[in-house]
Formats: sequence, C-alpha cells, structure tokens
Amino acid sequence: MICDKKILTGVVALLMGVTPAVSQAESRPHVIVVGVNGMEWDIIRPLLLKGELHNFAEVIQRGVYGKMKTLSAPNCPKVYTSIATSTPPEENGITGFVVAGKTASTDMLKREPLWSILSKRGVTVGMANVPATFPVMPLNGYMISGMLTRGKGCEDGILCSPKLSEVKGGEAVYPPSMVAELEMNVGDFWIDCSRMPTAEELKGKELAAIDHWLQQVSQVRAQQAKLFDYLLSHHRTDFTMLVQSCEDRVGHWLYPIQPYNAGYDSTLHNVRVDAFPDQYRAFDQVLGKILQHVDRNTYLFIISDHGIKPLREFEEGRRLYHSSHDHGGNTPIIAKHDFEDGDDVPGIFIAIGPNIKRDVRLMGLTVSVFDIAPTILNLYGIPRPTQMKGRVLSEIFEAPSSQPAESSAR
Ligand SMILES: [Zn+2]
Repeated sequence: MICDKKILTGVVALLMGVTPAVSQAESRPHVIVVGVNGMEWDIIRPLLLKGELHNFAEVIQRGVYGKMKTLSAPNCPKVYTSIATSTPPEENGITGFVVAGKTASTDMLKREPLWSILSKRGVTVGMANVPATFPVMPLNGYMISGMLTRGKGCEDGILCSPKLSEVKGGEAVYPPSMVAELEMNVGDFWIDCSRMPTAEELKGKELAAIDHWLQQVSQVRAQQAKLFDYLLSHHRTDFTMLVQSCEDRVGHWLYPIQPYNAGYDSTLHNVRVDAFPDQYRAFDQVLGKILQHVDRNTYLFIISDHGIKPLREFEEGRRLYHSSHDHGGNTPIIAKHDFEDGDDVPGIFIAIGPNIKRDVRLMGLTVSVFDIAPTILNLYGIPRPTQMKGRVLSEIFEAPSSQPAESSAR
C-alpha cells in the first residue's frame, strides 16, 4: 500500500515535470539484527533436516549463512559489546558479567558502540533486550535494556529478570516517556530471561521444577515477541536490534546429553529432553513474526554471540559442573560456552537483503563477531572508525563493486 502511494506520487510528480523529493530517511537502508544468545547449529541442523523450522529454513535459503568466530571464553555481555564496538573486551571495557567487582554497565564502555555512531549520523535506531545496555544511553530513537538490568529480586542484574516496573539503579528505557506506552501496549514485561533454579530447589522435585521454569521461559518469550512486534509496528527505525536470551539459559542445564557426557544426572536429564530443541521451535515462531516486518528492501541479520556445547572432562578436570566463571549460579550445568578456545563454540551468522547472495554457505570461521559493526556501518555509507578491528563482509554481497567502498584501510 505504501509502495503504491510512493509510485503514484512519483508518477504524478513526473507528469508535472518535477523530480519527486526523496527524503534522506526514505533512502536509508532498513536493517534488522536479531541476536539469539547461544544459538547452536548442532541443535538447529537436525530440526532443519526434519523440516521443523520453516521460517529459519526460508531465511537460510534466501541468504548467506554459516558459523561466526567468537571470542575466547565467550559470554553474552562481552561478546555483544565486542559486536557493537568491533573491539576486544580488554579495549572496550566489558570483559564479562562482572568488571572489577561490579556488574558490567554502559558507563564502563570505553569504545563507542554501533548504535551511538549510527545515531550521530542521523540514522534512527531501535534496540531491545541487547545484553549490557543498562542503564540505557540516549540515542536517535529508543533503547530498552537487556541482560544485566538491575531490579527488585535481581539486585546484581546477573541472569535474572526484573519486570519493567521493578527496575532499579538506572533507566531501562530511553526515552523515559516510552515506559508508560510500553506498559499500556505490551504489558509489564520481564527484561532478560528467568534465573535458573538452584541445585537445592531441584532436589527431589526435578520434573515439577523444570516444568515450572520452562513455563516462565515461555512467558518471557511470548512477552518479548509481543514487544518486538509492537516496536517494529509502531516505532519503525532505520536500524533495529533485538535479542533473545532464554535459548542460552535453557541450554546450560537442559542440553540433551547422553549418560557418557559429564554432568549427566538421570533424574534431570531423562526428562524433558526436548526442552532445548523446543527453544528453537519457539524461536522460529518469533522469527515468523519478525519476518512480517522484513520486506525485499530490508537487511536481516540473525546472529548468535556463541554456540553452546556439553561439558568436556578434559577442560573440567574433576569438576562435574561448570567452572566458576561460566554463568548459572549453582544450577547443575551440563553445557557451557566459555571454553578457552572460542572456536569450540562458534556463533551463527545469517544475512539476507536486497543485494546479499542467496543460499550460500560460508565455510570455516571467516566471519568474526568484529565484522558485524563495520558491515552495518558500510550499508549506511558510514566510514569505519579506526577503533574497529573487524572488516566489511564484502563477500556476502552480490556485487561488491556496487557497495560503498570500505572507507579506511585496515
Ligand atoms: Zn550462557
């Protein structure tokens, strides 16, 4: 309908002998980035083969897909900040969940993130649930914080989920005036995913505890899907970044493992073996809603900060459960991602868009978390700041020569 109106306006203008005015905003690329924490090809591929992920399969066929090289000992706050700044954690300041004894926060950022650079250049930006974006920063659009948001019952902000009305210690929404609007139209949603039950809470009532927790996870995802749909429908921005984190949380303690895997406990891991694959079945539904906002001129990137794999005894030594620096509190962890060699748990990279190649698989680990920001800046014709370590992924485009040239030599 909108396109028809544009064409009509153009035709009328041509008939009148004048050039139709195309505003700068209309000519800017429309880019949506969907982050899924800990998205794991090992789990997704069998579901794709069985034809269970229709939307995901469609996106793969329409675009370029493969693994994404992540950091050493990856975790969400530090990888997402590396994605946003295209710099390593020791340079950007966010080295993990906790930095110098304090929960990581945006005031610790030492390098300018993508959304700030875009905002300054007049690109409208929308962000929701991106890890380590609390307290929110002013930008040319809106921002709703994600993982590490502090609030009632979640004072340290680590792997818990305050509701929008329960946020403390900073703003979770920019502009603040948007809070009332979101409460009215989306509801009092949880920010981030639910805290995992402790070993004590599970003991003797494993099935009930698992089911109760998974029910919460479903509610969180439903709220987030509603939020994403509302934002994409009512607050369209040139650049939008949306993130889900429950997939990762589920994988940590409900990854479908075998008795020979480290950490196997028949009372926990014989039941609900579909819990983790179910997260991707559920994500596929969320993706379907997002795709309703993706037209043929939209670039869609689906990325994960890292994968997640069952524990390996050679790294765990005598400990059956996770090491102290992987997250999860005292939940019996059976899979993790902060392996010292990040290549053991690569993330996922998928891109579709007007001039992006179709049905092309990227082999190996040629795409890195550092390459996302330079590639997106390049779409907007914005020079890559010298701070950025990544490169423009020119190989994913049909006609590299028609792309804006990478602005600075590496
Ligand atoms: Zn995790």
